[in-house]
Amino acid sequence: MNNPLFDLTGKVALITGSTKGIGRSIAEELARCGAKVVISSRKAEACEQVAAELKAKGYEALAVACHVGRKDDLQRLVDTTLQTWGRIDVLVCNAATNPVYGTTLEISDEAWDKIMQTNVKGTFWLANMVVPQMAERGEGSVILLSSIAGLRGNSVIGTYGVSKAAEAALARNLAVEWGPKGIRVNSIAPGLIRTDFAQALLDDPERVRVAEQKTPLRRIGDPVDIAGVAVFLASPASAYVTGQMIVADGGETAC
Ligand code: NAP
Repeated sequence: MNNPLFDLTGKVALITGSTKGIGRSIAEELARCGAKVVISSRKAEACEQVAAELKAKGYEALAVACHVGRKDDLQRLVDTTLQTWGRIDVLVCNAATNPVYGTTLEISDEAWDKIMQTNVKGTFWLANMVVPQMAERGEGSVILLSSIAGLRGNSVIGTYGVSKAAEAALARNLAVEWGPKGIRVNSIAPGLIRTDFAQALLDDPERVRVAEQKTPLRRIGDPVDIAGVAVFLASPASAYVTGQMIVADGGETAC
């Protein structure tokens, strides 16, 4: 690592939902900058597999399975990381769910609760578990994955959008609360990114064409497009950035 602005040597980064898609790319790029990374998802085998792949590339990685909607799982994730590496310098709350499609009127209580529990409450729990030990050292970076779905109304994935807007708001609140202790908290709002999460849309060539056409950069994003923003927010390069939502959408919301 030549540029100290992007050097994460000696830092420990915990990334939820990091066995595939955006989370996996964030983990790999943070590791490339020198961070030790905690790989986590609901499936232990997938965590072990990804951690092994990163170790084979010469990076330090720890696999810990965790469902982010379960408080006990989150506590075990944090405790295992602290027992292993003694600190968490970068927290990326990336895992999220969107189990249903439909208007607000059509969403069941169960679906609403599942989306809010996984995407918002899990993030609230995890931030509260991790941030106090950052405060003891007087530094840390927390990154929440929001979405441009949280910026606009949508009659198909509106409840998911409400949860993503809440995550951006949570990032702002945490930034205000913990800024005096040297901790920065920001969110990233991706546009459409080529991952399993967006597979239903990506499987339809016509919808892909329309999505590309309404994006000034004329392409759908790749996970590394979001990982680059996460590297910036995790590193000293963004030392004076907190409480912000960084939109990475190929310009879609500029139109
Ligand atoms: P993805 O490719 O489907 O990957 C999701 C990751 O999270 C996987 O590792 C998955 O592994 C894990 N995961 C899912 N549910 C979990 C849970 N309850 N507890 C713990 N881990 C869980 O998704 P992605 O597209 O990379 O999305 C990552 C983030 O970006 C999400 O917050 C999403 O809202 C946001 N985002 C995505 C897009 C997009 O177009 N892709 C756009 C805007 C925002 P397991 O299934 O093994 O648990």
